[in-house]
Amino acid sequence: MTTTLTEKMYHSLIGGKPVEGTSGTTQAINPATNEATGPEFTLISEDQTQQATLAAAEAFPTYRRLTPKARAQFLNAAADKIQAAGEQIIATAMTETGLPEPRLQGELARTVNQLRLFAKVAGQADYLGVRIEPAMPERKPLPRPDLRQVKIPLGPVAVFGASNFPLAFSVAGGDTASALAAGCPVVFKAHNAHPGTSQLVGAAISEAVAEEGLPAGVFSLVYGRGTVVGQALVADPHIKAVGFTGSRGGGTALMATAAARPQPIPVYAEMSSINPIFVLATALGKDDEALAEGFVTSLTGSAGQLCTAPGLLFVPEGPAGDDFVERVSAALTAAAGSTMLTPGICSSRVEGEEAWKTLDGVTEVARGTAGSTENAPAPAVYTTDVATFLSTKELSEEIFGSVCLIVRYGSEDELHRVATGIEGQLTATLHLDPARENLTFARAFVEDLELKVGRVLVNGWPTGVDVGDAMVHGGPFPATSDGRSTSVGTLAIDRFLRPVAYQNLPADLLPDAVRDENPWSVVRRMDGQYTLPSIEGDA
Ligand code: NAP
Repeated sequence: MTTTLTEKMYHSLIGGKPVEGTSGTTQAINPATNEATGPEFTLISEDQTQQATLAAAEAFPTYRRLTPKARAQFLNAAADKIQAAGEQIIATAMTETGLPEPRLQGELARTVNQLRLFAKVAGQADYLGVRIEPAMPERKPLPRPDLRQVKIPLGPVAVFGASNFPLAFSVAGGDTASALAAGCPVVFKAHNAHPGTSQLVGAAISEAVAEEGLPAGVFSLVYGRGTVVGQALVADPHIKAVGFTGSRGGGTALMATAAARPQPIPVYAEMSSINPIFVLATALGKDDEALAEGFVTSLTGSAGQLCTAPGLLFVPEGPAGDDFVERVSAALTAAAGSTMLTPGICSSRVEGEEAWKTLDGVTEVARGTAGSTENAPAPAVYTTDVATFLSTKELSEEIFGSVCLIVRYGSEDELHRVATGIEGQLTATLHLDPARENLTFARAFVEDLELKVGRVLVNGWPTGVDVGDAMVHGGPFPATSDGRSTSVGTLAIDRFLRPVAYQNLPADLLPDAVRDENPWSVVRRMDGQYTLPSIEGDA
């Protein structure tokens, strides 16, 4: 297994085999120094992408028929291999991304645990959503046929990783784990900002594929330019769905390509969110310093490069609000910038902030200090009022990094107008004192917000996304391309499935999941009642 990158040059791993790309090479840049680092990676051409999609299509018939137990075993094997290579993966990711070791250690643990969680989901197989309506030949006025429904995998999935999570939203991240758990082979387009990290993780998954005796095309890792290879992948007829995390421009370009295909396919893109925080008046006057520090920590963590980083802070007008803004300013002034992921992301961040400076009605409130490395701009906070915020389109656009706009509001009605006027978001956060709050307003405000976001929080911070059964990391456009799903948590598997009903099939023709004897012991909805395998067995 490739656990260290000792060669001078590496290639895409198509069906587990290195395939030398014919479209030039790329090399990682250490964003802390702006120097090239590590080996070179060859980039495949548009034509070469077909090798990966064909391998995935060939693997699909066998892979989709794996028993729940076998699929779970494969995902656990991939987790074991990634964990075993953890030290080298973290060392490589630190150089390629500038992210600090503790953050990457946490991210590696999250990635491994996520694979194990999806192994459990695959093994339990309740995601299959089995529904059975036995035949009722005597039913009047018409007999009911025997109907059995189960969800089946869509087919090969193209996955695009994000720059900001080189592990948990990358090669073995949530999109890959959920697609593989669903029974879909994955062709992963490596992010060129962390090619070495991608190679190590891709080799670990490929090794697990081989050891479990699965068809090699179950997983491929390809290096290439997004506008060439990424577009070719999404246009390829063998690809049946897309998972993406990254920019709004990249996500919407892929949505357009997918929609223009002769057979359009779903794109699950997580793109852009500025995660408003609403400080209600009842939250102020208790421990404003801790509240201000909590906000600045959430804003500046990972250099503000988290999809859930708070880019908007709503604070009431008046003396209590003024005092809170002063505390935020003090905490922010003491904060230093840290290395951003790429020189390009850093310059977008700096340009975004420069554009704010030219806007009428927007003023700088506070600025921290720049970090000591390259690409580490100072965190900054600006302020405006609700009318300016709602009438200035640029203020609703994501600036990826530690920059926040404090919007001062004067009434509950203004908050209602904000909640109905903002674009779709991953999260919205309320700070309030439940004992003193006007709960009639707060309830109505939550109802406004739930139409705009995937997750509503109270008295917490949106950064730090728990991975589990109940999490939603999604939201209406432009937070994602399809707000009916989540990219974090076990429900993510639903994105890569579709229901099929079998009507009056003889028992011998039925798939295992919907047979009367329930050989996979799955939870199912039987004639209108959910039934648990153990209860059925006891009966
Ligand atoms: P990105 O530029 O969208 O790139 C993500 C992946 O998509 C890369 O592999 C990229 O390939 C590919 N890609 C980009 N444009 C494409 C296109 N038109 N057609 C096909 N493939 C395309 O995202 P990023 O590099 O991670 O970060 C850039 C910006 O995205 C950030 O400044 C930030 O604004 C935003 N971002 C947002 C989030 C979030 O969760 N909200 C997370 C990360 C980034 P190439 O690199 O080869 O083009």
